[in-house]
Amino acid sequence: MRAPNESTGRTTGRRITGAAASLAALAGLAGAAWSVRNVPAAIGGRLAGVRAERAARSPQFRDGTFHNRSDTRTTVPVSDRSLVRELLFGKQKRRPAAPVPLLRPAAETNIDPARELNVIWYGHASALIEIEGRRVLLDPVWSDRCSPSTAVGPRRLHEPPVRLDELPRLDAILISHDHYDHLDMGTVRELTDRQAAPFLVPLGVGAHLDRWGVPPERIIELDWSQTHQVAELEITCTGAQHFSGRGLRRNGTLWGSWVVAGRQRRAYYTGDSGYFGGYAEIGAAHGPFDVTLMQIGAYDRAWPGIHMFPEEAVDAHLDLRGGLFLPVHWATFNLALHDWSEPVDRVWAEAKARDVRLAVPRPGERVVVDDPPAVDGWWQAIA
Ligand SMILES: [Zn+2]
Repeated sequence: MRAPNESTGRTTGRRITGAAASLAALAGLAGAAWSVRNVPAAIGGRLAGVRAERAARSPQFRDGTFHNRSDTRTTVPVSDRSLVRELLFGKQKRRPAAPVPLLRPAAETNIDPARELNVIWYGHASALIEIEGRRVLLDPVWSDRCSPSTAVGPRRLHEPPVRLDELPRLDAILISHDHYDHLDMGTVRELTDRQAAPFLVPLGVGAHLDRWGVPPERIIELDWSQTHQVAELEITCTGAQHFSGRGLRRNGTLWGSWVVAGRQRRAYYTGDSGYFGGYAEIGAAHGPFDVTLMQIGAYDRAWPGIHMFPEEAVDAHLDLRGGLFLPVHWATFNLALHDWSEPVDRVWAEAKARDVRLAVPRPGERVVVDDPPAVDGWWQAIA
C-alpha cells in the first residue's frame, strides 16, 4: 500500500474513534474521577514565552497549532463497521497467549568504538542505540500504563526487560512526540534524577518537561531539519506525518522522527507516522542508514494517514535507503484492533518478498547491526 491516503479535508467528526493514543488519553480522562492525583501534571505544560515564540516562527505552525506538510486526517470513516463495537466485542487476539520472553542485554565485549552500532529494543517504541561509544535512548516509557492515570488506560503486556537504574550512562534522550506511549512523566522524572543527558524533543514538547522539573539546560527543542551536536554525534529532528496532544488540545506541540549520525554509522527512527513522501527526502539528505527503527503497529483502516501499515513501513525503509529493518511500536501495549502478532507477521512476509534485511529481537535483546540474529519467529509460539 503505497498511497499515503492523505486528505485535503480538515478533521471532522468521529474523533472519538481516533488514533489509539487519543483513546488512551480519553480513557485516562474518564478514569480521572477516581484517580486524579497525578493527572493534571501528566497532561503536561502549555507553550508560553520563548517556547511559544519559537513555535510561532516554525514553518510547521499556523493558526495556533502545528501541521503536517499535507493536511492529514487523523481518522477517516470506515463505512462497513463500528470501531467502538469492534473495540468492545471484536474477536481479534489483541494480547499474547503466554508471557513475552524478555532478555537482559549482556555486557558488551570487544567493542570497536569507531564501528560500534547496536540496538536494544525494550518494547513498544523504547530503544537504546549504542553508536560509536555513545548511548542514545529513544522514547523511554517504563510506567505500567501509557495514560495520564495510573489506574486506567492501556497496561503493559510485559515488564520492561531492564530497570531504569540499570541503563548505562546516556548521552542523549530523544522524544518523537508527546503521546503517552512515547513520553511518560514517571520515566522522564526518574531519568532526570538518574542521568545527566539532555532531552532532545520536537518544538513545544519542552513545555511538558519544564512542568516535570527537567532543568532548562537539559531541554533541546528542535524543528524539522534542525541538528544538535552531542559529543561526535549529529542528531537531527526530521519530519513525520502524525499529530500530538496529551489532553483535549491537539497539535500544540510538534512531532518528528530522528536521525542519529556518528562519524561512520547512521541510524534512523520513524517515531509515529503515516507513510509519506518525506521518507525519500530524508533518505536522500541523511541516508543511507545502517539501521532503521520502523513503526509497524497500531495501524487501522480508520487512521491510515497517521500510522503506517507494515507493508508501508517496508516501503518507507527502502525510501530511506535503510540497511537493517528493526520493527518497533508493537508487542508492549494493546493500542489498536489488530491481532497482537499481526504487525510483525506482515512485516516478516513483506521483508522476505522484497529482500529487506530484518531483525525481530525479543525485548532486551541486543542487535549487533553488522551481525543481527536470524529471524526465528519467536513471537508465533505465544501468539
Ligand atoms: Zn502517537
